Amino acid sequence: MATLPDHLTAAELKRQEPLAPWTSMRVGGVAEAYVKPATADSLLKVLQFAHREGVPLSILGGGANTLVGDLGVPGITLRLASDYFPEEIAGERLTLNAGSAIARVVTLMKQQRLVGAEFLAGIPGTLGGATAMNAGTKNGECMSLVEAVELATPDGLGWVTGLSYRYRHTDLPAGALVTRVRFALRKGDLADSAQKMETDLAYRKRTQPLSQPNFGSVFTNPSGHFAGSLIEQVGLKGHRVGQAQISTLHANWIVNLGGATAADVTGLMAEAQKRVLAETGVTLTPEVKRLGRFA
Ligand SMILES: Cc1cc2nc3c(=O)[nH]c(=O)nc-3n(C[C@H](O)[C@H](O)[C@H](O)COP(=O)(O)OP(=O)(O)OC[C@H]3O[C@@H](n4cnc5c(N)ncnc54)[C@H](O)[C@@H]3O)c2cc1C
Repeated sequence: MATLPDHLTAAELKRQEPLAPWTSMRVGGVAEAYVKPATADSLLKVLQFAHREGVPLSILGGGANTLVGDLGVPGITLRLASDYFPEEIAGERLTLNAGSAIARVVTLMKQQRLVGAEFLAGIPGTLGGATAMNAGTKNGECMSLVEAVELATPDGLGWVTGLSYRYRHTDLPAGALVTRVRFALRKGDLADSAQKMETDLAYRKRTQPLSQPNFGSVFTNPSGHFAGSLIEQVGLKGHRVGQAQISTLHANWIVNLGGATAADVTGLMAEAQKRVLAETGVTLTPEVKRLGRFA
């Protein structure tokens, strides 16, 4: 990259930054430029620069659903801070920074004696990532709680409502990134809310390989099927490529046994897709987002 925005401080910009530590799977190469703007104003200047100069720009949230390629990420890899704007709490509405952890909405829900976001408890990542991915479980999805989203584009910041969304996907305008999210929660039965979260978290502990690096569900569930059951059915539970393994606990999860490469992970994913298609006729679609260049 010839140039970089010249307003960035040393704390905001790192060149050739390894990205593995910034993802939950802990694989992949370096970011050519890793930028974490300190203010919303600095963030907008970065967007304007990238747009003007034609520099590729990628957004990394908490990296809990991202696979970084072994050959690294060209251009700017942008991360958001969690304190661009003060949080706003108005009755049942919570307006939070997209760079904040998903756990923040759960914490504030409990503090404000509200209910509705129980299904987000235990999902790692940021609120920006949860909005972009429409994160959720069988008990609910993020966007059903979202009243409005603030987007940043090279033209500035603006609130939008009524974004369309579906299973694990929200239609964000091209080139826009989420800076704030307004959640509309509700009053309800607090004991029931606490019970739901306890049950969910216990279920996660029992069924998910949380002690090993992973990125959650690898594939979306095809209509009428569970991706994990299909992968298990074709005998791939526990299968390894290099240091990546299809979890012995949950076949729709891949774990990094230590030192796995992105090529190990994509190798396993390709094998699962091939075997499941050949033996069951069902196509598996990755839920996980690829970032950067793959060998
Ligand atoms: C242990 C574990 C359990 C999980 N359980 C679940 C679960 O139950 N349900 C579920 O849905 N997911 C689950 N996941 C996946 C992951 O937690 C969610 O997809 C989460 O929403 C990812 O957020 P993130 O900030 O880490 O996103 P990232 O992985 O950083 O990014 C994901 C996508 O969102 C985009 N993005 C990130 N931030 C922004 C932004 N501010 N503006 C625009 N786009 C943005 C990125 O460009 C990328 O395309 C799990 C993952 C792990 C590791």
